[in-house]
Amino acid sequence: MQIDIITVHPELLESPFRHSILKRAKDKGLAEVRLINLRDYAFSKHRNTDDYAFGGGAGMVMMVEPIALCIEDLKAQRAYDEVIYMSPDGMMLDQPLANRLSLKGNLIILCGHYKGVDERVREHLVTMEVSIGDYVLSGGELAAAVLSDAIIRLIPGVLNDETSALSDSFQDNLIAPPVYTRPAEFRGWKVPDVLLSGHEENIRQWRFEQALQRTRERRPGLLGRED
Ligand code: SAH
Repeated sequence: MQIDIITVHPELLESPFRHSILKRAKDKGLAEVRLINLRDYAFSKHRNTDDYAFGGGAGMVMMVEPIALCIEDLKAQRAYDEVIYMSPDGMMLDQPLANRLSLKGNLIILCGHYKGVDERVREHLVTMEVSIGDYVLSGGELAAAVLSDAIIRLIPGVLNDETSALSDSFQDNLIAPPVYTRPAEFRGWKVPDVLLSGHEENIRQWRFEQALQRTRERRPGLLGRED
């Protein structure tokens, strides 16, 4: 999978993709993230990527031309399954959406800034809009990093232990059960006996019950959901 992120602030995204699981995905050749600087496609006199809003009002708007030229240039090099615009009013990112996107081949993610992008970008160039929550960020970069991370860790082979992504919260519409590591007792705070018992079936049953209980308490809406 290749994810091409279009941004006016590539430096904001350099670090997240150079470390940890995302770096491992790249090293294994499973997923590559490229940062595309939108300014390279700004050919107006002042090489602007934004301008004042028609009709007035505070805040700049990202211009349609550099975005169109950039997306067209990328599409001339390879085929993309989706052109995603990060937007607070987009489809809410959740685990089922991350699962669906992890099955795709190549993605473009467009990061907005200021008041957002000229509406014609959304009408004609973007195929999908994704939000990471009902709050407003100052730019799409952090949202794009969140989306890319959620997708890439699901690609088979990216996580060492393949089952570990499957046992995460939400993956089966359940919240993950509690986990513990050594020592078995710290300041009198004990690890539940069952986890030390070595009895696989009891442990499995305990984890399932804990997951169910947590889901009822914290995310009851997940129970009975089909996706
Ligand atoms: N004026 C717009 C907000 C623009 S915020 C509005 O009210 O809807 C600037 C940019 O940050 C957006 O173009 C988008 O790319 C990004 N952004 C802000 N909040 C986001 C969120 N919750 N999810 C995804 N992207 C977001």
